[in-house]
Amino acid sequence: MIDEKGILFVLSGPSGVGKGTVRKALFEQDTDLRYSISMTTRNKRPGETEGIDYFYKSREEFEQLIDQNQLLEYAKYVNNYYGTPRKYVEETLEAGKDVFLEIEVQGALQVRENFPEGVFIFLFPPSLDELKERIVSRGTETSDLVLNRLKEAKKEIDLMDAYDYVVVNDQVDLAVAKIQAIIQSEHLKRERIAKQYKRLLEAE
Ligand code: 5GP
Repeated sequence: MIDEKGILFVLSGPSGVGKGTVRKALFEQDTDLRYSISMTTRNKRPGETEGIDYFYKSREEFEQLIDQNQLLEYAKYVNNYYGTPRKYVEETLEAGKDVFLEIEVQGALQVRENFPEGVFIFLFPPSLDELKERIVSRGTETSDLVLNRLKEAKKEIDLMDAYDYVVVNDQVDLAVAKIQAIIQSEHLKRERIAKQYKRLLEAE
């Protein structure tokens, strides 16, 4: 409509819940959202591409980004840094486009502090048992790591309170449909629409 800012959507949830899978499935369908590509110090996995999956950084480079306040949020996760580039998010929202972040829970809490007007979606595992199975079947981790991730996941689930919406990831396509419904509802919120019309009338 008229120079309206975009909405920041944040998808988060426990490790192994399938955030990445749901996000990828969502982006296969929805083209209006802009995905914010994260920075990370972890190694590139087979099949991943620089600038598509992540921007891969050395530890030194990442710490410089932190010092220069170039990250909207960052977290250390399983011994690596992950962070969201501030400039991309702010400029894209300013340009009226919705931005979508898929990040772990410590980072989501930081975003909530800086962007309380963001929309926070918690992706929830159907059960912790299934979460364990998913982590094990991913097969890239040793069992100690699996146990650690599970311990972390139990703590993360307690963090659900900080979110606006909860989506159970029992089936990827259903989870995607629910997230799309959330996005649509947020755009239809009375205060957002009223603000647009008020601005329009003021501009007359
Ligand atoms: P992976 O190494 O499997 O790609 O990601 C590990 C975890 O880091 C996932 O839970 C993912 O959502 C999270 N993650 C990815 N990018 C970011 C980011 O920019 N910030 C934060 N805080 N977490 C992220």
